[in-house]
Amino acid sequence: MAGRIGKKSLFDEAMETFHRAADLINMHPRVRLEIEEPDFEHIFYVTADIRDRLVPLEAEEQAKVKDLAPSDVRAGEALEPLANGSFILHRRALLEADLTLKKGVINIPKKGFFRIEKGGPRKFKAYRIQHNQVRGPYKGGIRYHKDCSLDLFKTLAADMTWKTAIAEVPFGGAKGGIKIDPFNYSKEEIEHLTLRFVYKAKGLMGPFIDIPAPDVGTNGEIMAYMMRQFTDGERERHKLRGVVTGKDVRIGGSEGRVKATGQGVVYCIEEWAREKQFDLKGARVLVQGFGNVGSATAEILAAQGAKIVAVNDANGSIANDAGIDVAALFAHAQANPANLRRTVAGFSGAKAISKDDFWEIDADILVPAALGEEITGVVAERLKVKLVAEGANGPTTQEGDRVLQARKIDVIPDIICNAGGVTVSYYEWLQNQRLEHWTEGEVNRRLEQAIKKNYALIRDISRNRAQRTPLYDSRPYCVGQETDIRTAAMVLALKRIEAHYLLEGFSQ
Ligand code: NAD
Repeated sequence: MAGRIGKKSLFDEAMETFHRAADLINMHPRVRLEIEEPDFEHIFYVTADIRDRLVPLEAEEQAKVKDLAPSDVRAGEALEPLANGSFILHRRALLEADLTLKKGVINIPKKGFFRIEKGGPRKFKAYRIQHNQVRGPYKGGIRYHKDCSLDLFKTLAADMTWKTAIAEVPFGGAKGGIKIDPFNYSKEEIEHLTLRFVYKAKGLMGPFIDIPAPDVGTNGEIMAYMMRQFTDGERERHKLRGVVTGKDVRIGGSEGRVKATGQGVVYCIEEWAREKQFDLKGARVLVQGFGNVGSATAEILAAQGAKIVAVNDANGSIANDAGIDVAALFAHAQANPANLRRTVAGFSGAKAISKDDFWEIDADILVPAALGEEITGVVAERLKVKLVAEGANGPTTQEGDRVLQARKIDVIPDIICNAGGVTVSYYEWLQNQRLEHWTEGEVNRRLEQAIKKNYALIRDISRNRAQRTPLYDSRPYCVGQETDIRTAAMVLALKRIEAHYLLEGFSQ
């Protein structure tokens, strides 16, 4: 189906792989109808009170108030900085202040001229797309990002259905979030918005209904807010801990969850390297995105002796041919309160480069771990790597994929490559049900076996190598011909999902 501007929608484009794999396995027509669209598409609005702000004046506006006397705002720490240059104006900032205002403009020494923008209630668009639950409760991340749409969340929710099947965890697929740039709001505003999101979505959620987790723009702190609001007033709160995963380990999260997605990416890369007899020690790696997934992948690969030679994120790109000190970069980007956008830009241990230059660096492995549709046909033509290990969801367009195949650049598709996160989310959910706490060693031992086994199955399907090994049996999944690795991953997912419909049948 064509989108409004004649272009295929993201969802339709992503579903090309689904239909290719469904054709290959001769999927039952009713099963195809059941899973080619989401079960439910929830779109709703969430309101929250936004505080007053100090918004920096444009240069030409400043000229008009240049002789405005400075105001002595003593409680400077009560001006909370935001990434867009504004400040949240907490009332306590004004308690002992000596103020001069002109047409709502204030001059704060060493900070500049600001317009006071009145806060008040604001409305935000929210989504929860529940794609499929035949294998278990809906499961998928919550994204807070300025570019969100129904089309995007449908695509990501379907990806979760395929991914949970590949990871062999008893969940279905979902995705959702709020259309907001979280960097432009205070912690408190994000907390209130999250509580209100759960207030509205509570009926859709539950440890056996739909289980959110962190995604772009959200983290363990936001999962804690969600759990608090969901369990508030419930008599058996502790039974409900599994309503969200990706929580802090001190409140029911799992050891290893924060790094699980990156760890899973590395387990896949290790398998690729083992097969290719490629030494990861000294391997040159490009990482796009230095958030949860990118930073963990970089850290684990660097600990194995790989060299992270360049990193790109939403605000800049950096390179160091000798290898970037990942711990120092983490301290600069993630663990530094003054770095409001948590960006790698400005890191002193590497030189700044352009995003165009980033793609062209001579390296062995590229780990896209940012947003979708980054590796277009044009980018794929320019890459000088042997492997693209997809940490992000949907980083490669269909055209990008065709170019990578033609150029014989290997790909580890997202639905296996980044499945470590949802796998450990399942372990967290299990620990919550059992009120247990596993060690990180136990978590990673299980994760490694799960990821490597399912990745091996996908490689067998791709090469039509039907075999039974002590670890797995690929005979029921091979389709009698070779296929590209992305279609092979989808074949594994679809065969596991289809089995439920075929064996359980349909209620009429
Ligand atoms: P995050 O919010 O922690 O980090 C996102 C990173 O991407 C940031 O460094 C940001 O600067 C960068 N980025 C954003 N826009 C960009 C752009 N236009 N160009 C370059 N970089 C850009 O998010 P995350 O949790 O690390 O998720 C990253 C990707 O991994 C997403 O595609 C997400 O869906 C996927 N994923 C995450 C998990 C998880 O457990 N968090 C699991 C599976 C898949």
